[in-house]
Amino acid sequence: MKKDIHPKYEKAEVTCSCGEKFETRSTTAEIHVEICSKCHPFFTGTQKLVDTAGRVDKFKEKMKKAEEHRQKRQAISNKKQGKKNKKTGKK
Ligand SMILES: [Zn+2]
Repeated sequence: MKKDIHPKYEKAEVTCSCGEKFETRSTTAEIHVEICSKCHPFFTGTQKLVDTAGRVDKFKEKMKKAEEHRQKRQAISNKKQGKKNKKTGKK
């Protein structure tokens, strides 16, 4: 290995938001993670919602807005369709 170009690769403590701590090796001394093998639903087998920054709520809000927007567009296109039908006399 070349000298002075490699960062230190030392013991690092990983801290999870669930409280779990374990050690590994890294170039940084501390690592903070939101989910680990102790609390991930895949390992626990339970459905646990991990929402640390309200991202789920944000997504739900977005979906709601998108749905409202879609309905509005639908209403407008329905109106347009109605006018067209009157002109042509077709259904
Ligand atoms: Zn965890």
